[in-house]
Amino acid sequence: MASRFARLIAIVLCAVGALRGRAEEPAAPIASFSGARAMAHLEAIVAIGPRVSGSPGMTQQRELIVEHFRAAGATVTKQPFQIRDRKTGKAVAMENLVVVWHPDRTERILLGAHYDTRPFPDRDRDDPRGTFVGANDGASGVALLMELAGAMPGLAGPVGVDFVLFDAEEYVFGPRDPYFLGSTHFARQYAAGRKSGETGWSYRAGLVLDMVADADLVVYQESKSVSWPDTRPVVDEVWAVAKRMGVRQFVARPGYEVEDDHVPLRNLGKIPTADIIDFDYPSWHTTHDTAAACSGESLEAVGSVVLQWLREQR
Ligand SMILES: [Zn+2]
Repeated sequence: MASRFARLIAIVLCAVGALRGRAEEPAAPIASFSGARAMAHLEAIVAIGPRVSGSPGMTQQRELIVEHFRAAGATVTKQPFQIRDRKTGKAVAMENLVVVWHPDRTERILLGAHYDTRPFPDRDRDDPRGTFVGANDGASGVALLMELAGAMPGLAGPVGVDFVLFDAEEYVFGPRDPYFLGSTHFARQYAAGRKSGETGWSYRAGLVLDMVADADLVVYQESKSVSWPDTRPVVDEVWAVAKRMGVRQFVARPGYEVEDDHVPLRNLGKIPTADIIDFDYPSWHTTHDTAAACSGESLEAVGSVVLQWLREQR
């Protein structure tokens, strides 16, 4: 995810200790989301190595996940687009993936995650040009969706669900390079389809899942998602589900303000999309963003809440 405007509301961090110490509500029966399986998906993705947009690693990952979602019963459509590399001027092939569940349902939910990795771990003090495998920043959202796939064929109506894997969230080599190329393209296509009447269905709401596997997971409400009147209800619903389920990793207070894929989805696509992100991650954009810094328990916390939220859509 992007760093540029991320900032901290200090008072929230001060409250962390106090909140963690509080007595928890009794846990409700957990949904059938397995953190262990999700973690195995994360490890398989990370084992590919770097997955920069347009690279062989990205191609390999794409094959892996397309096969996975098709085997789970989804329709997978590819949304190719091209960008011009700002340094070399060469065209680079990009591709969003849209994983469609229950295509007959005209009211839909979007669950998004970026599946590219940053070209370099530029925040790594010792090795800023080293190898970056993006276990949390990249693989975690994809792994969560891979595990969630198992529950989708049995999801009762009325809503259908699309998993959208965004390419080029951070195809950035320098400070002026734009972020969110995949989600921007997707949002524009969706808006155009709605305007022309070609798209006969619509998104009711969306969630972007980014950096959801930190072993030390604390998910505050992302500040933009809280401040927009159309996304605020989505945030309230998700954190209410977490509270009811006794998932302590969700803290129902605004934390960081983050630029992420939810911004073009909401501003260009007009899809009320909240960002689910734990931005407090010491390994962020370093060579230490590996599977060792992640946990299945964290993936299960987020995955269970998202699944329950989907099941409660009426
Ligand atoms: Zn990032």
